[in-house]
Amino acid sequence: MFAWRPRTKTTRLIVHSSHMAASVPNHCAAMRARGREMGLLEVGYHFVIERDGSLVETRPRGSVGAHTPGNNHNSIGVCLAGDAASRHTVEQRVMLHALVVDLMWQFGRLEVVGHTELQRYRNRELRCPHLDMDELRETLMHITQDIPDKAPAAAEPEDKLTPQQRLILDYLGAGRTLTTKVAVTSLGIMSVSSRIAELRKMGHPILEREARDHFGKRYLKYFVEQPAEAVA
Ligand SMILES: [Zn+2]
Repeated sequence: MFAWRPRTKTTRLIVHSSHMAASVPNHCAAMRARGREMGLLEVGYHFVIERDGSLVETRPRGSVGAHTPGNNHNSIGVCLAGDAASRHTVEQRVMLHALVVDLMWQFGRLEVVGHTELQRYRNRELRCPHLDMDELRETLMHITQDIPDKAPAAAEPEDKLTPQQRLILDYLGAGRTLTTKVAVTSLGIMSVSSRIAELRKMGHPILEREARDHFGKRYLKYFVEQPAEAVA
């Protein structure tokens, strides 16, 4: 039976938009269908908030998601249905506030950030989510002030990354596929399989796929699950 990979730490809540028009009746179902085509078992976010404010729990809240490459090992991903034109509804904001309060009671205080505050798209003009994140944090500060801090978290795993490990995560995080050849020629990394093994041990879910070159020789392509967002 399939089991979700458990997350060992939770320090952030990362907010996304679905980047699909308001006229789409069920954003969660549409993203799931698109994700399946890309090989995702389920929507990469833990939660989707539909236009009417209804909440769908798509992955167990304690599992590793697939929504912000390089940041999935310590975060919960929430996606609000809507795009730049439709923005987000009052009902969605109300549900988001309630969800954040609920998650903070469970996991302790979380840093709430927008997807593109952490990681830009290749098109640097695009933003995710379509929310004023400072305004959201301001509101959350008021409604979460009674929530106690959990025990201080251990140092973030990314603090302990070596330069080569960081290089690989950044490369994969931008949605690219890494091969041994590219690692050697573009990144100057001679033993990419060892670095990948180290990163996996730290909880970074790096996938691989076997491919064949023109001569029929087998080689591996490494990649990470990408969020099923139209604009990524
Ligand atoms: Zn996003």
